[in-house]
Amino acid sequence: MISPSEPDTTFTSHAPGYWPDCEAADWNDPKWQLRNRIDSLSDLEAHIKLTDEERAGVLLAGNKLAMSITPHFFNLIDKNDPDCPIRRQVIPRIEEAWTAPEELADPCGEDSHMPVPGLVHRYPDRVLFLVTDRCASYCRYCTRSRVVSGVGEQHLETQWEAAFQYLEKHTEVRDVLLSGGDPLLFSDAKLDKILTRLRAIPHIQFLRIGSRIPIFLPQRITPELCGMLKKHHPLFISIHTNHPKELTTEVREGLVRLAEAGIPLGNQSVLLRGVNDSAKIQKALVHKLLMTRVRPYYLYQCDLITGSSHLRTSVAEGVNIIEKLRGHTTGYAIPQFVIDGPGGGGKIPINPNYVVDTGSNKVTLRNFEGDIFEYPDPTPIPTADMKALHEKAMCS
Ligand code: SF4
Repeated sequence: MISPSEPDTTFTSHAPGYWPDCEAADWNDPKWQLRNRIDSLSDLEAHIKLTDEERAGVLLAGNKLAMSITPHFFNLIDKNDPDCPIRRQVIPRIEEAWTAPEELADPCGEDSHMPVPGLVHRYPDRVLFLVTDRCASYCRYCTRSRVVSGVGEQHLETQWEAAFQYLEKHTEVRDVLLSGGDPLLFSDAKLDKILTRLRAIPHIQFLRIGSRIPIFLPQRITPELCGMLKKHHPLFISIHTNHPKELTTEVREGLVRLAEAGIPLGNQSVLLRGVNDSAKIQKALVHKLLMTRVRPYYLYQCDLITGSSHLRTSVAEGVNIIEKLRGHTTGYAIPQFVIDGPGGGGKIPINPNYVVDTGSNKVTLRNFEGDIFEYPDPTPIPTADMKALHEKAMCS
């Protein structure tokens, strides 16, 4: 029994849920999951009653970012709760059709840092390689919704050969992050080919994949996929999960399989209004992540993506959540809260202010309980004391 003040950290399966007649073999087949995605108003209304805001959102927002939800993820939706944190992430709402003055189509300025279409070179030693515009399901707050899902005005046209040649030539690049879209939607053979090509470049030390497949489509995390990925070490995977309910028994099995293949796992969450904007939810999420061998890595302030104002919080709310985690749980459980500088500033860490004063030769600090401490700078050893120590050493 979970007390109301304690976060729920249990793992459960929601299958078969809205698909009571589905055979286990189908349910566990990633191709079946993809074929049976919820991607139309009639699909949605066959299973749940939509609110007026959702119904209008489906009708108005579909030409901006497609709607598509795997049966696995759809099963997490509570049909009796119009404020369910799962439905807010994947079912369009009418608010998406309104653009706030501060919002941008390309909030992280990626397009202006693309030396080759599909390759973002924003930081000196690492690149973001956008290898696909497709995902298993689409997040309504997606930073790349200008290209992801293929229904918007802009299209991702990755120039594969030019991108590989750029990487071969740029010896300063030591770290490549494959993202998109979701690279784990590729077949094992296609992904193997890409990773092999990158691994053949001697100065690339480190490969990373950003993926929400372990959450949207855990059936894709097969032993065969893990066996292929482990050939390409050092390879890290950043997953993306926002709410503890997303960490089901199937998701845990997939994540443990990846960890057993020696792949270090981190999680990137986005702070979202009505989804995970409370310390209690965040605490349950980070605890469940550690239980699945995933290190909470970043908590992102939601980017200024067009049509996202209903999902964004103030920055102060994020700082307040970190303040309620730091000192109150394991250090490993605390993600770095960051803002991606609008227009291409890169990730900027945001922390509660624990430094009260920086006086001469000391800092005054506040701990997580509000107690004040002073930490002095090192005292230089006086010349006379140094001399005395030398003399003592000579005599011993
Ligand atoms: S999985 Fe990632 S790339 Fe795909 S829609 Fe969600 S945030 Fe965007």
